[in-house]
Parts: sequence; structure tokens; C-alpha cells
Amino acid sequence: MAANWKMNKLVREAKDYMAKLLPRVDDTEGEVDVAVFAPFTCLHAVARMTDDKPVLAGAQNLYFEDSGAYTGEVSAPMISDLGAGAVIVGHSERREIFGETDETVARKAARALDAGLLPIVCVGETKEERDAGDMWDKVSGQVRAVMEEIDSPRGHQVVFAYEPIWAIGTGDTASPEDAQDAIGRIRGLLKELAGEEFAGAVRILYGGSIKPNNAAQIMAQEDVDGGLVGGASLDADSFFELVEAARGEVARG
Ligand code: PEP
Repeated sequence: MAANWKMNKLVREAKDYMAKLLPRVDDTEGEVDVAVFAPFTCLHAVARMTDDKPVLAGAQNLYFEDSGAYTGEVSAPMISDLGAGAVIVGHSERREIFGETDETVARKAARALDAGLLPIVCVGETKEERDAGDMWDKVSGQVRAVMEEIDSPRGHQVVFAYEPIWAIGTGDTASPEDAQDAIGRIRGLLKELAGEEFAGAVRILYGGSIKPNNAAQIMAQEDVDGGLVGGASLDADSFFELVEAARGEVARG
């Protein structure tokens, strides 16, 4: 279960949140993997607090070069240097607002892997694309672009997140069946591109208005391995409810 704080929280707020969350997740170790994707400004504080805890600290973006004249950018080695172990790549807000392309997203995912960071690669379609019947064209193209840039052995460490753009921050969640349909198809495509072992091992999350009242149904879907959560992750109590929902599904098998 992954929390994406987006552009929220000052350092003090981040520390208070983690102080609330960390004692609770101790109990879930080995059952649910928990990650918190914080803004760069509080990532060091979050990473330090998770040092000896079963929570992965992550960044929300990176640049694919390691250093140089790229004003305002942050590289994979810089993220590792902060003590973080993961990074979100190609979130739809990065693609839609900041013009990231399938090509830059793929390069970022590959660079993250090379630097030992776990990339969570986001894919998903707009409402217009879905209504026009183009959902799979869009999503499969995004997945293919990433898989062409990385090779399969490293690729085991990639996590994909299917996040339909119309469901992000709107309260309009995909139905559990739609989430399963898209994620099942992504897994099928990964099997075709990288083989059965890879497709079976890779984790694929759903993201888009997950809340404590709908998480269990979504997590219960066969191909859904977890959730990437924005709004409902901003409060430590609400995020922990989602961790518990995922844990319930793990227990039910
Ligand atoms: C997200 O930003 O990745 C996300 C899924 O947001 P929300 O849960 O608010 O829809």
C-alpha cells in the first residue's frame, strides 16, 4: 500500500504523520508492504524515520541523468543519498501538467532501476480515451514503452500502477471489475513481453480515489496487488485503515 502525498506537508507535518503511522505498521511487517512517497523537501526526514522500520520511503519524481546542468531537477543517486528506496515515475499529473512523455517516463524507470531504486510506474487513460474505446491502446503503449527500455531481470523490481486519470482525486473510483479487467490485461501483456515468470512476479497496483470504504473490494480482485493512494493517504489514520484493508485481503487469501 503506497501513500502519495503529492505537493503536501511541511517537514513538521511529515514528522508528525510518520510518528503516528510507524508504531502501527510494525505489526503488519511481512503481510503488507507499506511505502510513503513524500515531497523532496521532507524526504530526508521521512527516510530517516523509516530507517529501521518496515516502511519504504520514496520520491515522487526523478530525472534520468545523474548530475549536470539540469536546474531544478533531482537525480536517482540524490534520492538514494537521502535514504529513500523508491520513486514514482510517470504519475499522470507529471504527464498531463509537466508534459512527460512515454519516452521520458521509460528512461526515468530504467535509471531508477540502475540506481537501485524501486520505480512505481503509473499508467492510465483519460475519460475521453475510455469513452472513445481507446483505453487499452493508451495503457498498453505506456507499458510497452517502459518494457522496451528495461530488461526483464531488472524488470522484476518494477511495480506498475494502473491509475485511470478520470478516477484520480475525483471520488469516482473504477469499479473493482474495471480495475481487475485493466490490471489483468496489463499482466497478460507483460507475460507476452517478458514471460510468465516475470508477469507472475511483478506487482501491479490500482490507484484512483481509493478510500477506506472501497479498498477491500478492490484489493480482493485477483490481479490487484495493492494500491497507490493520494487523498486518503494524507491522514495517517485513514492511510492505516487502507493498510489494514489490504492486510484483511492477504489473510483471506
Ligand atoms: C494518485 O495521485 O496517485 C491518486 C491515486 O490520487 P487519489 O487517491 O486522490 O485519487
